[in-house]
Amino acid sequence: MHINDPRIVASLAELGVELRAGTKLSQWTSLGIGGTTDLLRITKHESIPDLLNLLDANHIPHKFLGGGSNLLVRDGELPWIVQQLVPPEPDVVLEGNFAHVDAAADLGRTVTFCAKRDLGGMEGLIGVPGTVGGALRMNAGAYGMQIGSYVREVKLYRAAARKIETLRGHQISFEYRHTSFAPDDMMLAVTLELPSKPYKQILEGIRICNEKRRSSQPLGQKSAGCIFKNPPGASAGRMIDELGLKGFSVSDARVSNRHANFFVNEGHASAKDMLALIADVRERVERAYGMTLENEVVVWNG
Ligand SMILES: Cc1cc2nc3c(=O)[nH]c(=O)nc-3n(C[C@H](O)[C@H](O)[C@H](O)COP(=O)(O)OP(=O)(O)OC[C@H]3O[C@@H](n4cnc5c(N)ncnc54)[C@H](O)[C@@H]3O)c2cc1C
Repeated sequence: MHINDPRIVASLAELGVELRAGTKLSQWTSLGIGGTTDLLRITKHESIPDLLNLLDANHIPHKFLGGGSNLLVRDGELPWIVQQLVPPEPDVVLEGNFAHVDAAADLGRTVTFCAKRDLGGMEGLIGVPGTVGGALRMNAGAYGMQIGSYVREVKLYRAAARKIETLRGHQISFEYRHTSFAPDDMMLAVTLELPSKPYKQILEGIRICNEKRRSSQPLGQKSAGCIFKNPPGASAGRMIDELGLKGFSVSDARVSNRHANFFVNEGHASAKDMLALIADVRERVERAYGMTLENEVVVWNG
């Protein structure tokens, strides 16, 4: 979708929003898949209510992009525009055991920044690509921890109220790759409360997590992490592996030989290829195990 109307283009400029026309989302997603649309880069949180009013009044559908590491975006000319936050400088401010973090901050760099100042707890998240906002939205986690455990406050744009609000941690529920935020809420900033730990001890935790990832995940390849959520009491990866589906492919979309729940783009896979692979694997697991696998990857196919 392209914003051509000069009045809208001028209003975007007034709001301090950068318009990047004709952006290829394949360059913004870790899968390297996705069609073309206009990208709006937002520098001031305060401009968001007016921006959303402008888009909605002009019937411009929109989606929100973080770091693109958990997304499968459809091919071709996309029927909606995409918004993204630009991180401020600095994007993390510490106050005792509290870290005030902008949603656009890089998750890995935030974990390392806090670690160097003897604040730990998030070692498991090292190696999870993307932004802090994306991690919050999905309640990202690994190796027995999840970001939600450390959340004390979230500043967000509440689409239903059409304004920026602040929620306390106890007002939000964080479950396995699921949160109580509304689908169109926009995370803007978060306050995390992190336990004090000596840097050396945190580094050792990070080293162990890095080693586990390196030994089990196709880190050099284009993926979106785990494609499916684990059903209660079961492992999606184990079931796919037991069915002998490692290496199974549709064109350049392939089930990783390293980790059966990671699907990789080996070159020029399209969204159509990846969706066909996902549907096929889901059907085989359902036939064999009677379980319907739910996507962990967020699919923008509409
Ligand atoms: C190699 C690899 C390893 C991974 N390992 C893990 C892992 O161990 N654990 C894990 O949980 N995940 C893992 N992931 C998946 C992914 O990195 C996480 O889900 C990450 O938190 C997504 O953040 P993002 O900023 O990239 O979000 P995106 O992919 O950009 O977006 C994902 C969803 O969140 C929404 N979103 C993003 N930012 C915001 C915001 N500020 N406000 C509102 N909505 C927003 C988007 O609209 C979209 O619906 C892995 C991915 C890769 C490629």
